[in-house]
Amino acid sequence: MIICRRQVRQCRVQPAVVPFLCGLLNGDSGGLGILPESHGRGAPVLPWRRMATWRTGTQPNAAGGDDMGECTICHRQSPHISQTLGLCTGCILADTPQAHAQAAGAHARARRRFHLPTDPPDAREGAGCRQCINACKINTGQVGYCGVRRNDDGQVSGGDAQAAAVQWYHDPLPTNCVADWVCPASGPAGHPDFTDTTGPEHRYANLAVFYEACSFDCLFCQNWHFKQHSVAGPRHSAAELAAAADSSTRCICFFGGDPSCQIEHALAAARRARQERQGRILRICWETNGSMSRSALKQMGELSLESGGCIKLDLKAWNEPLHRALCGVTNRRTFRNFEYLSGWISRRPDPPLLIASTLLVPGYVEAEQVSRIARFIARLDPSIPYALLGFHPAFEMCDLPTTSRQHAVECLEAARAAGLHRVRIGNVHLLA
Ligand code: SF4
Ligand code: SF4
Ligand code: SF4
Ligand SMILES: [Zn+2]
Repeated sequence: MIICRRQVRQCRVQPAVVPFLCGLLNGDSGGLGILPESHGRGAPVLPWRRMATWRTGTQPNAAGGDDMGECTICHRQSPHISQTLGLCTGCILADTPQAHAQAAGAHARARRRFHLPTDPPDAREGAGCRQCINACKINTGQVGYCGVRRNDDGQVSGGDAQAAAVQWYHDPLPTNCVADWVCPASGPAGHPDFTDTTGPEHRYANLAVFYEACSFDCLFCQNWHFKQHSVAGPRHSAAELAAAADSSTRCICFFGGDPSCQIEHALAAARRARQERQGRILRICWETNGSMSRSALKQMGELSLESGGCIKLDLKAWNEPLHRALCGVTNRRTFRNFEYLSGWISRRPDPPLLIASTLLVPGYVEAEQVSRIARFIARLDPSIPYALLGFHPAFEMCDLPTTSRQHAVECLEAARAAGLHRVRIGNVHLLA
């Protein structure tokens, strides 16, 4: 399997089977590895819809035509309504039992395909896991909501230092990481404590660590392929992963999926890699949905603080009913964790410790949502960097269009109007 991390994030293809979504690379080079430099950011992008069938293994929505979706409650039709979800934003925000049931059905159908529980297990006599907001209570022989933590003998295990569902690869720096515009890998930030150059760290690499399980169930997931390995698939120890941090590695980015479900593994690997490379630059960064326990967040934060890394936290929607409908899980812990971490910013203002991001999902995450999120961030600290990311049709929402330029610009202006000083649109080349 090869993963390209240079576009919206991670096309994953089998060697020599299909091209990457951008159409510029295919899997011919085989195995995990560094992608050719020719995969430039300004390169043209093929229409996403032409790839819809092989991306998800399912047919595009049944609405036909130009993917016109219909809300099952108000019956409004629009290309900005996902037929899979079958709800418009207005009906989601009305927060009715009918809307809950409709959204729950969409998530259940999506999860059954991967043998994932439709809801966080809540078995009275089950073993408890408190690593994330889902607080699963898992019966013997069953798995938690993430699929990777399981109760085999009365205790929950999985995703620990011995074995995790994880893959990794080296990504040449500078890379189009969510935080590359403010981090030491690309510019003067953090010099001289956390980088030895005031420019891009050419000739070095980021060790990108992709965890194959998640505590959310986003219908728009741009990386949904990981679900195939959550319940069963290859497992690797923290020691194996730490050994991959070679002399070319300047930073490790833990993402996925989400690192929170396998946080013991991630923390063990990060500490081991830092110890083995003592005295040398090795920044520890995280890309997460922010649903982890407070104890895990503190340990992640300490590692990032001391190493010059950062935590990139996805704030996917402001309104809780909308977040539940899109992501299957509440956003309450995410916003609480973000607020908590913002209190650490003064401990190391440069480079920024905390970065926010939001995926601009047409019809659902538009200027109003971004404005509310941005006001929340600005109240905490208006200097927190905020990245707005272009959406491309994927997974259960492959019937929605790519984020338009107008949509992105409206969101950018809304975030700036809310008082944020550092806002940027990522993946500009993807915008329609
Ligand atoms: S990590 Fe989260 S989703 Fe997975 S078993 Fe634990 S509480 Fe449940
Ligand atoms: S992993 Fe961290 S240091 Fe490396 S490019 Fe991304 S934000 Fe910058
Ligand atoms: S949190 Fe990220 S990885 Fe997890 S389901 Fe949502 S989009 Fe996918
Ligand atoms: Zn509606």
